[in-house]
Amino acid sequence: MSRYPARLEEGHGGTLLDPPRPRPPDARRRPRRVAMLSVHTSPLHQPGTGDAGGMNVYIVELAKRLAALDIEVEIFTRATSAALPPSVELAPGVLVRHVAAGPYEGLAKEDLPAQLCAFTHGVTRAWAGQRPGHYDLVHSHYWLSGHVGRLTAERWGVPLVHAMHTMAKVKNANLADGDTPEPAARVLGETQVVGAADRLIANTEKEADELLRHYRADTDRVAVVHPGVDLERFRPDARGVAAGRAAARSRLGLPQDALIPLFVGRIQPLKAPDVLLRAVALLLRERPWLRERIVVPVVGGPSGSGLARPEGLQKLAARLGISDVVRFRPPVGQDRLADWYRAASVLVMPSHSESFGLVAVEAQACGTPVIAAEVGGLPVAVRDGVSGVLVPGHDPADYARALYAFAADPARTARMSEAAVRHARSFGWATAAEAMADVYTEALLHRSRGAREGQPH
Ligand code: UDP
Repeated sequence: MSRYPARLEEGHGGTLLDPPRPRPPDARRRPRRVAMLSVHTSPLHQPGTGDAGGMNVYIVELAKRLAALDIEVEIFTRATSAALPPSVELAPGVLVRHVAAGPYEGLAKEDLPAQLCAFTHGVTRAWAGQRPGHYDLVHSHYWLSGHVGRLTAERWGVPLVHAMHTMAKVKNANLADGDTPEPAARVLGETQVVGAADRLIANTEKEADELLRHYRADTDRVAVVHPGVDLERFRPDARGVAAGRAAARSRLGLPQDALIPLFVGRIQPLKAPDVLLRAVALLLRERPWLRERIVVPVVGGPSGSGLARPEGLQKLAARLGISDVVRFRPPVGQDRLADWYRAASVLVMPSHSESFGLVAVEAQACGTPVIAAEVGGLPVAVRDGVSGVLVPGHDPADYARALYAFAADPARTARMSEAAVRHARSFGWATAAEAMADVYTEALLHRSRGAREGQPH
């Protein structure tokens, strides 16, 4: 397996915790232009609701940082409105191309496998207008795009790099009560993409192991690249964490002296916002005096199986008798989101499954510790006992205890806030882009060696 060290400081060779970074493969063999595929969700959509989440942020941030390394990126996504122009410049060196595939509106993610031929046709038509060799490499995101990537990369004679983002087998092994399992067709589709990709990107070592174990990926083709965080946007207030918290609270109209456990993300059973609400209800039953001193913001919109009951969480809050302390807010842009993180006492992420958990790192970067379920990538995103607390399982009583510890021990909270900022600083998008560029180079070198030796890739 290609191993990219876990925590690299921005602009440095590595931390004391990690082995020195391997010398990058010949940087002159980096691709000049990459076709990135994101069939089911556009990098231009607002994350935090529906199908738009961490993957959208990942694609935008990675593409911008690759462009800064002189690797142009063209992102193909399905057009969801007739009003969209054929292409939009997202940033210098990053173009979003809208591909007509199926009706603009009214298609769910589950309907998209039937539109993959149309999408592939749209991508190859866009390519036909270019000079030969326009793209040096295809990077697909999520299994639907992987299928388009398989065909286009083969047609263009270039390597395919694929990122799963989530895996059906892993999701199905960690379903929330009453959640709908991912269909067998997706597992089959994912297995085919894993077999076809020249390189598979895993967010963490754990995800790399899951690719090997569940999908029989070829060890040599799996590379670990940690996602990043925008450290310019997500940072503590210049006056320090405590002063910044006070200022953010007054900007958001939140009480200064309250315990504020924050939930941020798409509202669906997999993210388990219900566990936070149940934990708060338990906490208030045991310590009723806290009711005057707690506010629980829930920032995000319904998604996935949560779309079937968009009011489900509000109803749960009412049933638990805590509607007066919970504040539901629609998704917000990331500058505004940074203020929510700064205002919070602690971010709570009780997810059943999480490929990485960008919001955990974003919150820490703003100086807010995290209580997270010990699942998926969260043990990498959060340093247990240092920058936050990892909770095994989803028992609301455990989360209530963890929450009370934050309320009861301000000195510990302050220590964790400082440590959270330090921990988050080891995840930068520039570092992620450098590591990704190295994977691209490896894939290209491997291709050209294979071609010289007359081997299939
Ligand atoms: N997000 C946002 N506005 C919101 C809620 C979330 O921009 O109101 C972004 C958030 O900053 C993060 C992403 O959505 O970058 C969610 O990523 P995460 O990895 O936490 O979850 P995913 O959506 O991938 O399951």
